[in-house]
Amino acid sequence: MQEEYACKECESKFKSEGALHKHLKAHNMSMAEYYTRFYPRYNKLTKEPLPFKNKLDYFNIDFSNRGQMIEWCNNTDNNEVKEYIINQLKNRVKNKELKYAPNHLELEVHNLLLLICIKRISAVMDKLVKSLALNQYIVKESNKVFSGKII
Ligand SMILES: [Zn+2]
Repeated sequence: MQEEYACKECESKFKSEGALHKHLKAHNMSMAEYYTRFYPRYNKLTKEPLPFKNKLDYFNIDFSNRGQMIEWCNNTDNNEVKEYIINQLKNRVKNKELKYAPNHLELEVHNLLLLICIKRISAVMDKLVKSLALNQYIVKESNKVFSGKII
């Protein structure tokens, strides 16, 4: 099935995301305006609208910085944090091949593993490794975290 990209402003359909993005000019709209208007996203800690820098970050980042992420983690129920980490890692693994440069993935994996450490939910890692067929990189890094080499 061919994926279609529909403009939320006028419902025109496009075969590629690039074509949709070019089309936004017809509405005199930037990508930032388009995505923040039709796909509003909010900072999980502050509940403020997240700024748009690029599409990938916009849909994958939930905080403005690592400090906010840690603060949210410290003030949130274990199960919710666990669920968040699992979903984030799933997305990372899914997006990685096409879109992520290795450094980007490394950074995000480190951030998520930090949350696992704060919450002391090492059982999450076992589950992740088993259920997601994670690549060796993540397994290796998680071992480093739990042996205390990262933080
Ligand atoms: Zn349009």
